Amino acid sequence: MYEFDYVRAASLDDAAKRLANAEAKLVAGGMTLIPTLKMRLAKPSELIDLGGVANLKGISEDGNAVVIGAMTRHAEVNRSPVVKKVVPALAAMAGMIGDPAVRNRGTIGGSIANNDPAADYPAAIVALNATVRTNKREIAADNFFTAMFETALAPDEIVTAVRFPKPDAANYQKFKNPASRYAIVGVFVAKTGGNVRVAVTGAGPCVFRVPEMEAALAKSFTPDAIKDIAIKDDGLNSDIHASAEYRAHLVNVMARRAVAAA
Ligand SMILES: Cc1cc2nc3c(=O)[nH]c(=O)nc-3n(C[C@H](O)[C@H](O)[C@H](O)COP(=O)(O)OP(=O)(O)OC[C@H]3O[C@@H](n4cnc5c(N)ncnc54)[C@H](O)[C@@H]3O)c2cc1C
Repeated sequence: MYEFDYVRAASLDDAAKRLANAEAKLVAGGMTLIPTLKMRLAKPSELIDLGGVANLKGISEDGNAVVIGAMTRHAEVNRSPVVKKVVPALAAMAGMIGDPAVRNRGTIGGSIANNDPAADYPAAIVALNATVRTNKREIAADNFFTAMFETALAPDEIVTAVRFPKPDAANYQKFKNPASRYAIVGVFVAKTGGNVRVAVTGAGPCVFRVPEMEAALAKSFTPDAIKDIAIKDDGLNSDIHASAEYRAHLVNVMARRAVAAA
């Protein structure tokens, strides 16, 4: 039997107070959490729905950046004229997540708090050097995703928004699982001034950067500049969908495609 109370938080403060109870859990789009409950992998005493907290939703331009509220759905990011203008690669990436049902329910806050090793947003956030805002502080992209399904969030911390600075050029390429559409390997490349960031999802237990590619691309932002940079397969994911060796190969292929398209 399921035994939990369901409450719609009236405000961010209300959600935070309720989350102080260690057995309570936030629910956003429910796309990951509801299956987790159905499989009995989580057993909260209270589900705190963030759906009614108005100031967690929406997309706004903030100088040379775009700020996306935690409860903003993937479909809204994909369609947003502001995201398309400031970071078009991010809008395109959101349109590659799952299927229409997932994109119309799933949220950016839920996706990054969950930190699935094959999720797309972690690559965008790290490559674009975004800042995660919570009800307590701001967390730099490089410090947010710590391990498989782990983040820097404290148990009672709530993601409120993510701020993405505008890059000069960016692109995301994903080799997807044809059934779930999760990334077998996804590579997000972003160039801002002389600085290039390359972030990889799906290949390892957690999103990671490729410093050798970043250095080569900072000198010459061309696919040829990285064609000989091989990724070691040590520690990469290996499953029925792809071996670690194949994933390592895909990182180079996806990175070159992303640079060509950026
Ligand atoms: C069939 C299928 C295919 C999918 N394909 C992809 C894909 O291709 N790429 C991809 O990236 N993802 C994919 N997803 C995942 C999808 O993007 C979900 O949106 C995401 O995993 C969770 O977001 P959610 O809003 O549904 O969060 P929920 O399921 O409601 O919550 C997930 C976790 O985050 C916590 N949480 C939620 N909001 C917050 C917050 N604001 N602050 C702190 N913690 C919070 C919850 O307590 C829970 O632990 C897929 C999911 C499904 C079911």
